[in-house]
Amino acid sequence: MKYRGLFGGTFNPVHFGHLRSAYEVQTKFSLDSVCFIPAAIPPHKQPSSVADAKDRFEMIRMAVSDYPKFCVSDVELRRSGPSYTIDTVKHFKANRAEPVLFYLIVGLDAFLEINTWKSFKELFSLVPFIVMTRPGLNCQDSGDKPDVLYDFLNSEISVGYSFSSQDSCYIHDTNQPVYVFEVSRMDISSTKIRELTGKGESVCFLTPAKVELFIKNRGLYR
Ligand code: ATP
Repeated sequence: MKYRGLFGGTFNPVHFGHLRSAYEVQTKFSLDSVCFIPAAIPPHKQPSSVADAKDRFEMIRMAVSDYPKFCVSDVELRRSGPSYTIDTVKHFKANRAEPVLFYLIVGLDAFLEINTWKSFKELFSLVPFIVMTRPGLNCQDSGDKPDVLYDFLNSEISVGYSFSSQDSCYIHDTNQPVYVFEVSRMDISSTKIRELTGKGESVCFLTPAKVELFIKNRGLYR
């Protein structure tokens, strides 16, 4: 059995926050690979502020090229219309030559908006999630404070989730588990990189040097 992570996003552009957290997830869950999947037409973002999908793909390709456990997929670029995660998960699960368990890797912020995604309830029956949380989140074991994920899962996804502290995941009779994992969240965002670039400032140490150079040479985010 192989274990593979699917990490979707706009990646406009990819940065060290994405790369470091994907690395921590890959090692913690002993994943054979993590596949970065840029959305062609992200359903939740303004198309005008998003760089061409081929450029975003190319920046990820360069960023992951030195780490063999990371890869990039153009599956959403080859599909017409908006990029829906449900279609991508079904694509990866179909026609496997070898048994593979896929995990969907999602940052907490994106996860808490998942009830706006197409066929989101079906997604929870198809694939286990790894939710990347940040330090200080009121989650399980937080005493009398509300458990944000417990409340969200039971109110928006399906009644019946409970937390298993042994595996650090939320379990459900019919849905796949939702693992929570605290990553060293860095205060880096694609928005910050676009803003700095727009002001003509350097983005060094926020994203790999190859990506920085690509942004410069292609005149992106000006
Ligand atoms: P933007 O600033 O344009 O909104 P972003 O930096 O949040 O973009 P996305 O491509 O929207 O990047 O994010 C893809 C995934 O990576 C999401 O699940 C998001 O929660 C996660 N993510 C983004 N930034 C970080 C970070 N610094 N550390 C860990 N995960 C992150």
